[in-house]
Amino acid sequence: MLQSRIAVFGGTFNPVHNGHLKNASHIADEFQLDRILFVPAKIPVHKRIINDPGPEERSYMLSLAIQADSRFELSTLEIERNSESYSIYTVKSVIKNYPDSRLFFIIGSDSFNTITGWKNYGELISLVHFIVMKRPGDGIREEVLDIIPSVSIAENVEIDVSSTKIREYIKEKKDCAKLLPDKVLSYINEKEFYLL
Ligand code: ATP
Repeated sequence: MLQSRIAVFGGTFNPVHNGHLKNASHIADEFQLDRILFVPAKIPVHKRIINDPGPEERSYMLSLAIQADSRFELSTLEIERNSESYSIYTVKSVIKNYPDSRLFFIIGSDSFNTITGWKNYGELISLVHFIVMKRPGDGIREEVLDIIPSVSIAENVEIDVSSTKIREYIKEKKDCAKLLPDKVLSYINEKEFYLL
């Protein structure tokens, strides 16, 4: 039986945007992934969530966004856990849930560069194959690449969008229709998120 190929893609997704989605679909093709689990953080440890509509709303926006690709799935593992969103816990839960799969971990270059500060990173890097997405402004640090036993750099096109930019555009009432799916933008407008 062929081993299934599953990736964990964690983030705050405040809100999810085309940088996440286009790269994820490219990576699913490039690495022949059967499934990408999008895991929104409840209590992120590496950054404060600015102007947070809450984990349930961030998850809901994600659920709207991922309908377009059958390989994408929402995972509420971190939302349901009542503790900080450490990736090591998430990865161990996914391994339990999918014991016979090959596990990948999708990460942008900015986050990847900070990996040695993550909880139990030595164990984390031994459990997954990292797929690093290039991101404008953040080159991938060689000294980090050198210590990761199993890692690939995705052949993604750099996409210049961040959740911060979207939140700013919404506040300033600028057009951000090209930066995120229509359904997500309509929901943000309906709920009046990020206006303050
Ligand atoms: P914020 O602007 O609020 O800091 P963000 O746009 O970085 O948010 P996150 O949800 O924190 O979004 O990102 C989740 C993961 O996706 C991280 O690993 C991050 O590096 C990566 N990522 C986000 N945007 C991009 C992008 N445009 N290109 C490549 N990777 C990205």
